[in-house]
Amino acid sequence: MSKYETVIGLEVHAQLKTNSKMFCGCANHFGDAPNTNICPVCTGQPGVLPVINKKAIELAIKTALALNCRINKSSIFARKQYFYPDLPKDFQISQFDLPLAEHGKITIEVNDVKKEIGITRIHLEEDAGKLVHVGAARIMGSDYSLADYNRAATPLMEIVSEPDLRTPEGAKAYMEALAHILEYIDVCDAKMEEGSLRCDANISIRLHGAPKFGTKTEVKNMNSFKAVMKALSAEEKRHREVVEEGGTIIQETRFYDDETETTSGMRSKEHSHDYRYFPEPDLVPIEPEQAWIEEIRKTLGELPEAREKKFVGEYGIAPETSKILISDKNMSDYFEETIKHYDKPKIAANWIVGDITAFLKEAKLSIKELSFTPENLANLLKLIDGGKLSSSMAKTVLIEALKTGKTVEDIIKEQGLSQISDESELQKIAQDIINNNPKQVEQFKTGKEAVLMFFVGQIMKATKGRANPDTVQKILKDELSK
Ligand SMILES: [Zn+2]
Repeated sequence: MSKYETVIGLEVHAQLKTNSKMFCGCANHFGDAPNTNICPVCTGQPGVLPVINKKAIELAIKTALALNCRINKSSIFARKQYFYPDLPKDFQISQFDLPLAEHGKITIEVNDVKKEIGITRIHLEEDAGKLVHVGAARIMGSDYSLADYNRAATPLMEIVSEPDLRTPEGAKAYMEALAHILEYIDVCDAKMEEGSLRCDANISIRLHGAPKFGTKTEVKNMNSFKAVMKALSAEEKRHREVVEEGGTIIQETRFYDDETETTSGMRSKEHSHDYRYFPEPDLVPIEPEQAWIEEIRKTLGELPEAREKKFVGEYGIAPETSKILISDKNMSDYFEETIKHYDKPKIAANWIVGDITAFLKEAKLSIKELSFTPENLANLLKLIDGGKLSSSMAKTVLIEALKTGKTVEDIIKEQGLSQISDESELQKIAQDIINNNPKQVEQFKTGKEAVLMFFVGQIMKATKGRANPDTVQKILKDELSK
């Protein structure tokens, strides 16, 4: 064990799934032509007045409830002043004192150990625009930069954790747990790779048992859950090395480079007084009524933790399988829908996590895009149970159905795949083979039971693999002991 303890706190920005922007009616839509979703309000023209998007407040309250936060009776917006070309107003409307919600918690799991991580606060703010640096990844070294304000003033929710995390693995687990919740309650797409979920991490180290935190640095630019872990591992290592060599950690913001897996200094860390926050004079306080909060609570649905408990406890699914199902809301929905039509949850789960997931990975599809419905899967599994298909035939049929979108019935017909379970038909075939192989019959009768597999093989060959192997074995034993 290292003599140092690492302390990590995360600030997560989640883009909210609203139709319009935070303070105007412009579309909140990703991927449109640059500067098409803008108006005088979101580009900060003089004399305009912002109006709060009620849906954004609703989604933030929903998140606050899911994360067990206390929702403040009154919260206010503030202006955070700074100049940057992606911020046309020269200030960002955010919340500072009196955020929307505070004092929540979330459960994470690392190496089968569960831990509760505190949520300090959840507040609302507006996003900045996007700069495209031509000729380089960052503004440094680029030929010129272009500004797209479509994203300017779109609703952003900031979720700040307590400094409760102790390892880079824990930080990754926290991000994943948070992403699942946001996805489950349908407030955010929660995809780090696409930027709808972004994270800044504060990290410091101290000797075990030391009363005070060490000097922290802030790490930015982590574009995947894995990158969060790698960036913090690199920064943790750097802190230890600096301290071991007798150096001092400087409070600063550092940029993570995924290629070199190292961090480098960007700028000295601003303090909140640098932003000269003051209350936004054009917006009224948010004062949600209790009845509205209760209405929102009803829309929460089942959260991932509860669902996982049900999958393992009630359905008897292996914890590892359950984790894979839960990791994708659409996949766990697909599973729940399947078992409405098929009452063996373990079997259904294994097919979804096994063959279907393998196909999706290969085809780079999400389960939502499949034309093969949960009901189709239930029917296929029933055909196996009814002896109409062997499980290897069912795999063939499944892959063909997934690829082509054809029905199970059509594929079975086309490929002549139905399994022969009919005893009289199989008995006839078995009898022929027994008659044609007297030598092997003799061997069986003198006690060489392994020869049974020879007969099974012959029958499978004669039926092109369509014979039900269990029925075949039973018939052979009967016939050969006559
Ligand atoms: Zn606008």
